[in-house]
Amino acid sequence: MTKPSSAPLHYDVILAGGGIIGLCTALFLREKGLSVAVLDKGRPGYEQSSRNWGWVRTISQAMEELPLAVASRPLWQQWAKEGDFGYTRCGLLSLAQDKEEWNTLEGWLAAARTHGFDARELGQPEIHTLLPQSRGQWAGALYSPGDGRAEPDLAMRFLVRKAEAAGVTILPDTAVKSIDIQGGRACGFETETGRISASAVVVAAGIWSRWLCKTVDIVLPQLKVIASVLRTEPMEGGPDPIIASSRFSVRKRMDGGYTVAQRNSSITYVTPDSFRFMREFMPNFLKQKKLLSVRVGSSFVEELKQERQFGKGRPNPFEQYRACDPTPDRKTLARTMQRLREDMPVFEKTRVAAMWAGVIDVVPDALPILSPVARYPGLFVATGFSAHGFGVGPAAGKLMANLIAGEQDTLGREHFTLERFGCNGEASAGR
Ligand SMILES: Cc1cc2nc3c(=O)[nH]c(=O)nc-3n(C[C@H](O)[C@H](O)[C@H](O)COP(=O)(O)OP(=O)(O)OC[C@H]3O[C@@H](n4cnc5c(N)ncnc54)[C@H](O)[C@@H]3O)c2cc1C
Repeated sequence: MTKPSSAPLHYDVILAGGGIIGLCTALFLREKGLSVAVLDKGRPGYEQSSRNWGWVRTISQAMEELPLAVASRPLWQQWAKEGDFGYTRCGLLSLAQDKEEWNTLEGWLAAARTHGFDARELGQPEIHTLLPQSRGQWAGALYSPGDGRAEPDLAMRFLVRKAEAAGVTILPDTAVKSIDIQGGRACGFETETGRISASAVVVAAGIWSRWLCKTVDIVLPQLKVIASVLRTEPMEGGPDPIIASSRFSVRKRMDGGYTVAQRNSSITYVTPDSFRFMREFMPNFLKQKKLLSVRVGSSFVEELKQERQFGKGRPNPFEQYRACDPTPDRKTLARTMQRLREDMPVFEKTRVAAMWAGVIDVVPDALPILSPVARYPGLFVATGFSAHGFGVGPAAGKLMANLIAGEQDTLGREHFTLERFGCNGEASAGR
């Protein structure tokens, strides 16, 4: 990686954020022959992109996002030939515990079929054949043989190497403090080591995108959700496909262990933004409230204090929080492991090797924002992946690169505009 002091001070495109979205966008921009730099306040890939479950899936993706999921598959396959980061099309088995869950899965399948997907419904004998380890009773199941898995941490290291080999400048430990606007146009970043200018600037800063946009009064309705994960020690005889259910989710790891989590156990803390964006988030929150636990804690006051620190020329939270590394919810993870052992005795003696957590960036309709910012020509946003950004990252990067270069594609950009939230009109000042 490059030292900030030895890097050029002008590029065609600069990106704030070296997660999967920033790196994939940079790669496709380089393929177009543009000069590109990716700046990260810490180690590229260290936040969500290396902490996730490693699912590369189509099942249960929103219809608007399916083209990204499908277009990402061949890119993952191609890249897996260039480096070993555990990518394999192992299939994904999504299990319904009761009629209500099955109705949701069936509804998704009916809609997805019209797009020509490989997902299909499984009968009880087929569930047993694919998952002989389970003694659970399931109300129904969907299976997608083309869905897959990868090791997030290794995938991110691979992408950093690939981007550098392609000529992308990567600047770690370089916090972007604000966006430089001159003559009504975005023309660079103010960083902790000085100014870097560019013809186009991209905010791909995960959970920090909201704050970075706020430095130039752009309102990006984004909240944070904490999700906990564990990994087991290597073991024999476990399932090969990814298993998704509301009791537990498991994904086989490259080392023979399993990544285990529970999808309906995420936590969101009440912050000042929870009130500011209540109107936008409420409809989806009411639909998904079983998946989320809302808590009140010290984060309200902490975020209120942090907000006052943002601004040009001042030390700010981007420098204070180089790596977002929250404490995992050990109690919930222990319960998840217990359920897994009850349903699949093969896990009875398996030991937990590590636990961790990540903070997910969510937007009101849970679809990404891949968009120019109308108020400032030259400014783009690539964020808001709402827990699906790893699998769709490659095609999302391609879409962004096309958008910035002014080229067309059929990846669904019309669904991913910042304008869809209507947050940047006159009435939004101060949000
Ligand atoms: C526990 C968990 C499980 C998940 N499971 C899955 C899954 O199985 N499949 C899936 O598809 N998705 C999953 N996701 C979601 C997926 O990981 C994210 O959607 C995706 O990684 C988002 O990538 P990103 O590049 O937008 O953000 P991030 O990976 O968070 O990257 C943002 C980067 O921006 C940097 N940054 C922020 N502010 C600044 C600044 N001011 N200056 C410079 N740099 C800055 C940060 O340091 C960080 O490196 C999961 C997420 C979590 C947390």
